[in-house]
Amino acid sequence: MLMAMSVEQNIKRIAIYGSTGSIGTQALEVIAANPDKFSVEVLTAHTNDELLIKQALRFNPNVVIIVDDKKYTKVKEALASTDVKVFAGEKALEEVAGMDYFDLMIAAIVGYAGFKPTLKAIENGKAIALANKETLVVAGDIVMRKAVENRVPIIPVDSEHSAIFQCLVGETRNKIEKVILTASGGPFIGRKPNYLVNVKREHALQHPNWTMGAKITIDSATLMNKGLEMIEAKWLFNLRPEQIQVIVHQQSIIHSMVQFEDGSIKAQMGVPDMKLPIQYALSFPKRIPNSFPRYDFKKVNTLTFEEPDLKTFRNLVLAIEALEKGGNLPCIMNAANEVSVYAFLRNRINFLDMTDVIEKVMQKVPYIEKPTLDEYYESDGQARHYAADLIKL
Ligand code: NDP
Ligand code: MG
Repeated sequence: MLMAMSVEQNIKRIAIYGSTGSIGTQALEVIAANPDKFSVEVLTAHTNDELLIKQALRFNPNVVIIVDDKKYTKVKEALASTDVKVFAGEKALEEVAGMDYFDLMIAAIVGYAGFKPTLKAIENGKAIALANKETLVVAGDIVMRKAVENRVPIIPVDSEHSAIFQCLVGETRNKIEKVILTASGGPFIGRKPNYLVNVKREHALQHPNWTMGAKITIDSATLMNKGLEMIEAKWLFNLRPEQIQVIVHQQSIIHSMVQFEDGSIKAQMGVPDMKLPIQYALSFPKRIPNSFPRYDFKKVNTLTFEEPDLKTFRNLVLAIEALEKGGNLPCIMNAANEVSVYAFLRNRINFLDMTDVIEKVMQKVPYIEKPTLDEYYESDGQARHYAADLIKL
């Protein structure tokens, strides 16, 4: 009895926001392999009711949220014989984030939609395993300030930032000279604009090293993902823009590096598999055993490094501009990017048009150096509006 109680107390109660996505489903695999350490308390989906129901029947959470309220009745009926509470609508995401059902939120909703619930969980003092990089791109200053005020750890899930985070363990007193974010280069590495102009959705959705949701896969193909990650790194590790370097490393074996003031460089390496950074974010500061594939140095291995092609992949240039100018510019860029990716995925604009739309929106929406939260919301809305106008959505 005593034994059982002490084990129970050590179980971390997990809320997975975006449980039906690529990160969400892999997080559930990690949790399923460690039932003595983690319990699933909250699951959320946007429209995928079928998978949400399956997950709820298997993991028996306290709460599920289906954002699309037209699907509420179906989910409710499917779970009628269980104790699972079913909520619907966007507001429910924030409401549940403010309750005490969980100890740690895996923030794995894609895009701006993940911002408000994550902020709410931070205000509620809950630890965050952060996959949703857009949250830090939109309003990193406010998010990090609230995290400090509420003593909330924000543990990165993004593989590059997890790598940096792991390299920094034991280095609290040592200054970072710079971080080196590795980029796979995406499916179109080496290609030029005359090729990219004809690229179609299906082609851009084929990533060489990672299987991910559609939005981040397109962001990886345009290199916007690396730009978002530079901004994410700035906030997570309190860096100046010039301390963040991007290097293309096609094999994705080194997940990122930290260079210290003595010139020493630490790298974190492994087979590309998101389950590892997800597991680390859940188990931190401990490491727990698993049977994921291991990297084999006996095979013929060549690790290569090259500069990103900034003339061709101009989204990265725009992101560097947003990183350097700060204020509401990253928020504006993020909104324009989300609308552009949405339009590209529906074959409404071509691959290179995405950059043009983002650039025009960044020039048009008024710059604010130190925005309030409401000003961030307004900037996001204005940017979306203008981007949709340009695309004639
Ligand atoms: P997916 O598209 O695979 O999953 C997105 C999840 O968010 C789904 O559960 C989806 O529900 C839900 N969702 C989508 N739109 C909304 C909305 N408007 N409101 C509420 N929920 C919504 O994305 P990924 O798992 O690939 O990515 C999630 C986040 O993690 C992104 O921010 C991404 O940048 C980041 N990330 C992902 C990596 C990866 O390997 N996939 C690596 C590093 C970071 P439904 O299924 O019902 O549509
Ligand atoms: Mg990444």
